[in-house]
Amino acid sequence: MTPADSPSAPSNVVPPAPGSSRTIIVKEYDFFKVVQDYLERASRTLDLADFVRAILSQPKNELIINFPVKMDSGDVRLFKGYRVQHNNLLGPFKGGMRYHPSVTLDDVKALAAMMTWKCALMRVPFGGGKGGIKFDPHSVSKNELQKITRRFTHALGENIGPEYDIPAPDVGTNSQTMAWMMDTYSNMVGAANKQSVKGVVTGKPVASGGTLGRAKATGQGAVFCVIEWAKEKGFDLEGSTMTVQGFGNVGSHLAVILSRLGVSTIAVGDHTGYLLNPEGFNAHKLQDWVETHGSIAGYPGGKAITREEFFKTKADIFAPCALENQIGETEAKNLDCKVIVEGANGPTNPAGERILLERGIDILPDVLANSGGVTVSYYEWVQNKRSESWTEEEVDAKLEKAMTRAYREVADFARQHKVDRRIGAYGLALQRIEAVYKEREIFP
Ligand code: NAD
Repeated sequence: MTPADSPSAPSNVVPPAPGSSRTIIVKEYDFFKVVQDYLERASRTLDLADFVRAILSQPKNELIINFPVKMDSGDVRLFKGYRVQHNNLLGPFKGGMRYHPSVTLDDVKALAAMMTWKCALMRVPFGGGKGGIKFDPHSVSKNELQKITRRFTHALGENIGPEYDIPAPDVGTNSQTMAWMMDTYSNMVGAANKQSVKGVVTGKPVASGGTLGRAKATGQGAVFCVIEWAKEKGFDLEGSTMTVQGFGNVGSHLAVILSRLGVSTIAVGDHTGYLLNPEGFNAHKLQDWVETHGSIAGYPGGKAITREEFFKTKADIFAPCALENQIGETEAKNLDCKVIVEGANGPTNPAGERILLERGIDILPDVLANSGGVTVSYYEWVQNKRSESWTEEEVDAKLEKAMTRAYREVADFARQHKVDRRIGAYGLALQRIEAVYKEREIFP
């Protein structure tokens, strides 16, 4: 089964026509428009200067590169790669690289804009960027994956750099992808500069200049938000239950870390399907399984359920950690939980969000909840600059402080302005960006 025709595929995927291997993805959902609408709403709340809203409503640069790769068969295949640089007022463009068949320019634009808000919210001196390649990484060999990554990095050339635009892992990419990107880039800058450009990507393996604590950082950051939410609500995490959609980097670390606090993951799903275990999965073992097998498929110790059954499973916490646009009206009506922690970017669509808020279900929004990744990426970049390596305890302690502060600031801002937490997170970020634009003004 391929990701596109799996039971978990969103409804905008058209299966291959008979005799064809091409899957068509029809984009009915305009993710970038959704992000622009949130920007609009938050701008009104704040009475944001018109020129600031106008600048932020579009990315600064949009790059599309079609590049050829010689596959294992000897055939040459053309790939489409994207890099969108949304804003670099506060620092270098920063954001992940996504390998997925559904990658489009508009999605990358949306994700790049969200990186601008996240960095401003977390007081990280970076701007926003995002990139990706439109293909299914599960359908190529490791050798091909390496060639695709290196060729794309080479094609990007000077459009990335440790002081200019810094990629990181996202859906379908990981620390290995980052090692290939860094190695390719460092071979392009000449021997004299090789050592000084490690910070061109973050999320690298630790031995290649990555930081301890980065692999789990996004999940860990989301956990710090859940802990704050539980304190705010007087909710006891010990003995509580959770369902997780997407058991990759973010979802699996979130489940493993929360399991140590007594939270039991009772249903999981990924691109291959959904599994239920009312007794609770062993999150460690499931994580190991996914690392070895590439998905949750075939994991012993869970009963296969449909996507619909998954969304109806009663649990205290729901953690969407896969893709955008997963919680629409139907899912929002079906979900039976107290809080949604958005490990993924944009998992809740606006129609779904309205229903959830009406139903009194709390949402810890993506811009806040998954910003632990970019925060620890910043720590990695600082360590690369200083040729230092911090302990995991140091990284975790800094992250906890940063996430806790951001959580409280968003909650306070939302209360003061009588808005939901998502608009609160946007508002806080926009306020900080606006202050800098007002000081620096517009060139010339
Ligand atoms: P990943 O590739 O490690 O995992 C993605 C997971 O989503 C996999 O389990 C995959 O099977 C699942 N998935 C893919 N298509 C699916 C579908 N149609 N239905 C159900 N599940 C599907 O990626 P990740 O890094 O864990 O990223 C997950 C989400 O978190 C994305 O929205 C990403 O933008 C966001 N995010 C990631 C980071 C990070 O540091 N990696 C940081 C911030 C936000």
